[in-house]
Amino acid sequence: MEKFEALGLKGEILKGIADLGFETPSPIQEKVIPVILNGGEDIVALAQTGTGKTAAFGLPLLQRLNTDVNTTQVLILSPTRELCMQIGNDFKNYAKYLPKIRIACVYGGTDIRRQIRDIEHGVHVIVATPGRLCDLINRDAVDIQNVERIVLDEADEMLNMGFKEDLNYILDEIPTRQNIYLFSATMPKEVERIARHYLKNPLEISVGKKNQGADTVSHQYYQVRAKDCYETLRRVIDCAPDMYAIIFTRTKIDAREIAHKLQKDGIDCDALHGDLSQNQRDDVMARFRSKRLKVLVATDVAARGLDVDNLTHVINYNLPEDVESYTHRSGRTGRAGKEGISVAIIHSKETGKLRRIENTLKKKFEYKSVPGGEEICRAQLIYYADKIIDSEGHETLTPYEDELFEKFNNLTKEQLIQKIVSYEFGRLLKKYANVPDLNLSEDERKDNGGKKSGRGERGGRQERQEDYTFTVFSVNVGKDDGLTPRELIDIINQNSPKRSLEIGSIRILDNKTKFEVDVTGIDNFPKYFRNADYDGLPFFLTEVGRGEVSNSGSGNRSRGKNNFGGGRSGSGNNGRKFRKGDDSFGGSKKRDRGGSKGRSEKRKRK
Ligand code: ADP
Ligand code: MG
Repeated sequence: MEKFEALGLKGEILKGIADLGFETPSPIQEKVIPVILNGGEDIVALAQTGTGKTAAFGLPLLQRLNTDVNTTQVLILSPTRELCMQIGNDFKNYAKYLPKIRIACVYGGTDIRRQIRDIEHGVHVIVATPGRLCDLINRDAVDIQNVERIVLDEADEMLNMGFKEDLNYILDEIPTRQNIYLFSATMPKEVERIARHYLKNPLEISVGKKNQGADTVSHQYYQVRAKDCYETLRRVIDCAPDMYAIIFTRTKIDAREIAHKLQKDGIDCDALHGDLSQNQRDDVMARFRSKRLKVLVATDVAARGLDVDNLTHVINYNLPEDVESYTHRSGRTGRAGKEGISVAIIHSKETGKLRRIENTLKKKFEYKSVPGGEEICRAQLIYYADKIIDSEGHETLTPYEDELFEKFNNLTKEQLIQKIVSYEFGRLLKKYANVPDLNLSEDERKDNGGKKSGRGERGGRQERQEDYTFTVFSVNVGKDDGLTPRELIDIINQNSPKRSLEIGSIRILDNKTKFEVDVTGIDNFPKYFRNADYDGLPFFLTEVGRGEVSNSGSGNRSRGKNNFGGGRSGSGNNGRKFRKGDDSFGGSKKRDRGGSKGRSEKRKRK
């Protein structure tokens, strides 16, 4: 506590954090607290999750509030509802002995009128998601004219989630601000741009190396056929009886499906994703925090920043495309100096992705073989035996002991153990008797190593149907508009929030185009295309589903027949009125560029 005191924090705050069990400041707290307390520079702080950022900005900001006035002086922006709630909660704990401080959290997905009432009579601190705050600003329901200090928490994630415009809007709205404090686990270009544009000579603080996961995390991977991924997951869970983990999936659908399957397989788990109501989320989180659920299946966005300590494992059921997401995921475990394991279950064609992550993180992933039945049963039995040996509370048995001893009188110790174990583990032992070996041979693993798209000549397509790495999207521009695959790829790359997306099949139809793209780690991909256009035509992207663009075996999908029914007359009305007219756009440069067989055929027909 002396160290906290030495940073300049006052008695009431010290009491508050003492109640939380804080003893010494974390490195980021040591660096940030004095700067904010003294009203010094703006700050750009790069720190991994779990380094104690909330208290780093929270404690000094609370200490500096003027509670004699009713104005909102501090604004915290954070990407998700859960994070807002968590920060609000932490702040209330820090301010336990500063009862005059009023704090409000505002976020989407819940009744805005109640939030308006919450802030109506003046609060000193607002913790908000950018989207909801913009709503409130537009309704004239919030007064941020007196805000002095702004925190951008998890800035990279706010940008990942498409809050860039909202952030610009908010920051432009608050001319009175004295300081902005930007916190981020990673520093992509967009975050740097915000920092350059809005912060004044910021002090740069970095805790831990850029893009590097906590050192207490070991990274492991299992490599199996795509169809065996789920079975592998189940075995990995069954083989670690004391597991307390988050499993990351790419999409909400995956999260739901996997949680459902695991529940059916008798594992205490549930899913956390964007489609849940707030009550449902709170319920899932409460069960997970109290460890009634041993496994939480979540999308990146839903699990971002959740402050759950003591996770033994993080499991990447789908490997994210980018290293940043991986860093965030694995940063959920190995917290507070504890050991953690980050597991990736990859299929035979993801070696390239894994190596890219390894190279950036400068960490080696340890190859693990999928546990077989015997190994799993042994792990469970030993765990169970230890639990029995460690159990206490014999006195409660006293009144029944005589009867019990009498009942088991005829059994030897060995027989008794056998019976108890087979009673408890009969199902498990049966389930795992003679299960197949899921491991790939060394040749199979080498064969596939490093291939990027994995669309080999033989059988590639067949196998890929099981991979589900791709999501299919449809766009309202097609062959009639002159779209070529190259141009499509350019538009995708220009608008996508992430570089180097993996794009699968492309089928250019008359008046629309379907294509596959791996949007791992990106939520609501179409959102990024709201302002996109193809040579002046609005570019409407919609998600069609997962899997394959087409089930036809046709070799060249970009020239294939329209298999989607409807064709020109039926579907795609929404885009029709924007389609290039025959006259006004005749002879546009698109047509002159040539090169696509589809288009030249079209012209001949005319
Ligand atoms: P971050 O925002 O960097 O991911 P948090 O601020 O959520 O991290 O802190 C992670 C956990 O560490 C929380 O449970 C928090 O209560 C705890 N914590 C933070 N600072 C300290 C400290 N100085 N001593 C002990 N625990 C701390
Ligand atoms: Mg945080």
